[in-house]
Amino acid sequence: MRIGQGWDVHRLVPGRALVLGGVYIPFERGEDGHSDGDVLAHAVTDAVLGAVALGDIGTHFPPSDARWKDADSRVFLEAAVAMARDSGWEVSNLDCTVILEMPKLAPYREAIRASLAACLGLDASCVSFKAKTNEGLGEIGRSEAVEAMAVCLLSRAQDRPSP
Ligand code: MG
Repeated sequence: MRIGQGWDVHRLVPGRALVLGGVYIPFERGEDGHSDGDVLAHAVTDAVLGAVALGDIGTHFPPSDARWKDADSRVFLEAAVAMARDSGWEVSNLDCTVILEMPKLAPYREAIRASLAACLGLDASCVSFKAKTNEGLGEIGRSEAVEAMAVCLLSRAQDRPSP
């Protein structure tokens, strides 16, 4: 088995959409970024890439590349899953956390789990999503930023010979 962790932070600014794990969350601010800024998709992508030691999201999808302007970040996650599979590994489960002061994310929990599960080729029962506030502290507490953390476990792919 392999384990990987990922982390990301994005500024929250007016005039941008708030997207978490591919799910649009109505709010007055959204993530700044070259792509859609989906901080959760980015953290999960880095967790998958980290598990198989294949670099990070910036290596494969640099913000200097015009192709990724306003890109749906699920593309990055699905590409990371494909890279892991090509290396003989498949994701077994994911546990992730978003730290965000507002809005409350509980109403979106199941949609986010389902969206990430679809990207990972998993049943939603293998995807855990948690949301925390920063207790009003710092940039996150002032709704100037959103942070995400992810841990995933990968197992040898069943349908391919081991590398
Ligand atoms: Mg990012």
